[in-house]
Amino acid sequence: MSHRLLFVGPPGAGKGTQAERLAASHGLLHLSTGDLLRAEVKAGSDLGKEAEAVMNRGELVSDELVLAIVRSRLQNHSGGWLLDGFPRNLAQAEALNALLGELNQPLQSVLLMELDDEELVQRLLARGRADDNEEVIRHRLSVYREQTAPLINHYEQRGQLKRVVSTGTIEAVAEQINAALA
Ligand code: ADP
Repeated sequence: MSHRLLFVGPPGAGKGTQAERLAASHGLLHLSTGDLLRAEVKAGSDLGKEAEAVMNRGELVSDELVLAIVRSRLQNHSGGWLLDGFPRNLAQAEALNALLGELNQPLQSVLLMELDDEELVQRLLARGRADDNEEVIRHRLSVYREQTAPLINHYEQRGQLKRVVSTGTIEAVAEQINAALA
């Protein structure tokens, strides 16, 4: 299996859950930009203060800010890694590509997790995070379609994209992911 990979998919598709499992079973560093940003918000850092309002509106925080977070975590890490929630637009994908070139750690695979919008909304409403009310959820989905979905084509053209449909139990989705990445 690849040891340098990233997960793409709409909010609510289950990326975090599956990324955590896969990283644990394969000894990979799991980097979730959403989790790292929420930790900054909780700690009340300057970075967290800058990110909080943006996140609660369902917008993307600045590319510079998330890139700095990812860079700081990857540059002193020598093993495999799994990125979850980054890149989220084409500019971030280009910046990641440059960073990985610099670090001599090329990306190996991209896993796309798909689910239809109504199921996504139901799952997110059930989760109930600060940015999980219906209006913000619908906005996050439109941000995903406009800014993040172009990554699908981008990675498909590079021959790196693997797809799974994330309906069913956590176990069933995990099996599909293992098969897609095998
Ligand atoms: P979800 O997968 O449910 O959208 P995340 O935890 O990945 O949730 O992200 C939550 C929020 O954190 C996003 O709506 C956005 O404001 C911010 N965020 C996370 N990753 C990025 C990123 N790569 N670029 C910009 N903003 C990000």
